[in-house]
Amino acid sequence: MIKYIFVSLVLSLVLVNAIKVQLSTGTQGFNRHPSPFIPGLNNAGGGYTCVTCTLILSVVEQYSLIHEKSVDAAMDDICGFLPGEMSKLCTYMVSIYGNEIVQYFAEVQHADDVCHKLNNVTADVQPSPLVSGLHKGKVHPHPSKVNESPLDWFKDLINRFSKDHSPLEDVDGDKFSDEITFRGYNWRGRDCDDLNNQVYPGSKYNNPNAGPYTDWNCNGIKGLNSTSNIGYEDELCGNSGPMGVIVVGDSAGAHFSIPPQWLTASEINSTTYNGMIEIIANEMDWPQRSTYTGWNPSTNEVPVDSIYLRMRERNLCNHRDYQNTAVNGADSHDVAFGLAQTIARNQETDAPVLLFLELIGNDVCSSHHDFDHMTTVDEFTTNTLTTLQYLDTVLPSGSHVVFVGLADGRVLWNSLWNRTHPIGATYEQVYDFLNCLDTSPCWGWMNPNETVRDFTSERAANLSLVYNQIIASHTYQHFDMQYYDFPFDAINAEWIAQGGQTWQLIEPVDGFHPNQIANYLIAGYFWDQLTQDHPEWLGSINPNNQLIQQMFGDQGGYN
Ligand code: CA
Repeated sequence: MIKYIFVSLVLSLVLVNAIKVQLSTGTQGFNRHPSPFIPGLNNAGGGYTCVTCTLILSVVEQYSLIHEKSVDAAMDDICGFLPGEMSKLCTYMVSIYGNEIVQYFAEVQHADDVCHKLNNVTADVQPSPLVSGLHKGKVHPHPSKVNESPLDWFKDLINRFSKDHSPLEDVDGDKFSDEITFRGYNWRGRDCDDLNNQVYPGSKYNNPNAGPYTDWNCNGIKGLNSTSNIGYEDELCGNSGPMGVIVVGDSAGAHFSIPPQWLTASEINSTTYNGMIEIIANEMDWPQRSTYTGWNPSTNEVPVDSIYLRMRERNLCNHRDYQNTAVNGADSHDVAFGLAQTIARNQETDAPVLLFLELIGNDVCSSHHDFDHMTTVDEFTTNTLTTLQYLDTVLPSGSHVVFVGLADGRVLWNSLWNRTHPIGATYEQVYDFLNCLDTSPCWGWMNPNETVRDFTSERAANLSLVYNQIIASHTYQHFDMQYYDFPFDAINAEWIAQGGQTWQLIEPVDGFHPNQIANYLIAGYFWDQLTQDHPEWLGSINPNNQLIQQMFGDQGGYN
């Protein structure tokens, strides 16, 4: 039983992320979208509760069949596999709903029928504690002290990242943190002095208060060359043209990914859910492995390439100067009226940036079964101009803005519809199930109707055209601009030429996002494009790189 609730909550979270809950519960005015979380949980007709319940109980059902165990024993097993507080939460939930689950499985056999019966029974019970927590809760700086119950722990976890999208643990308020999760250094270079708001990645201001030869920009280069009597930062980086990397965008920019093993019943074991709490604390995103701001070292299993890593390789003075401000569910309106403002950059005292504005789908994607909720060309133009106007007030002179066009999501249906989802059903069935409950992250593209998919792609293409119109008609004081199509076709061709297949580039659980391989390939693609079109944007290769490496090693790494 514990297992059921746990999974239900986790998958609620997943769906919340995949859609727009963070935006709708944020404090920065992201109120355009009604929260799917709250009405979903309250929706006696199904919605998010049904989706999460069915996914979770499908896993339980399959696990019990594969291991020839009772539903009760399957839930106990899975709960036991969950880490720490998650395991307690799972047990707690099972203690509340477990008997009904076992009883209903005996009566109706299949997970979706069990969920339907459960939903009728629990619609009045399950939502209230979680929903009231979401509405009333404040961000607790030290949630570990608030463990009255497992549910409180979980409410607190959600509250910590649903409020805004700046680092939670940030003592000096400079929007950089020395914590890894909750928008910490997985997202933005680690703050090497969280008690001094003039010391952070990207600063070029040698603040006398910080000490003349301290590491005031956190790139690991510091100290005085006693021979020349010049500080090493000035000597090795001063004329190198340092440049940071920022991405403003959506879940694809943040690299949303749900580990498929979480839902693959045949593979579930005691290590399946390792790291789960950290993954949730990163909003199910992996910015540390993303196209734009990835910094994790590449391995055989997890190939990582990023614009940031390429910029760092070119000039080691750029170490740690990355910011991923992307948010799951964000569209052009959210960026213009909230997310752009989470960028940390001082126009006067910081280095310029190479900024990617990437919104590849949410302006045409929602759970609504209509075209009226898609952003119009006029709205998209207004939103984008609003964003650029703001950027011109915060980006340092000499910055560059790269627009990434919307995706053509028809590739999703075309490459996945008859394949098998980790849950055991085909993607066509999963998409249909989500649409049936009004919970699809993208009705327009995750849709069996070709006319609907075509219309969605047409609107997406029309919105992408806005960028070049703006480039042709507007100039800004602090940055210049370039547009690129979202390069899925290009990297797909590259992948197929290597012997791969298209579906291997798409996240298996959500059937929607570019996966790790795609992130890797897209980084290389954009880098090659920029090298060709704007080599001067990337700065010179720093002739001091070798010396920096000899003197400062890994420059303090990332942790
Ligand atoms: Ca800080």
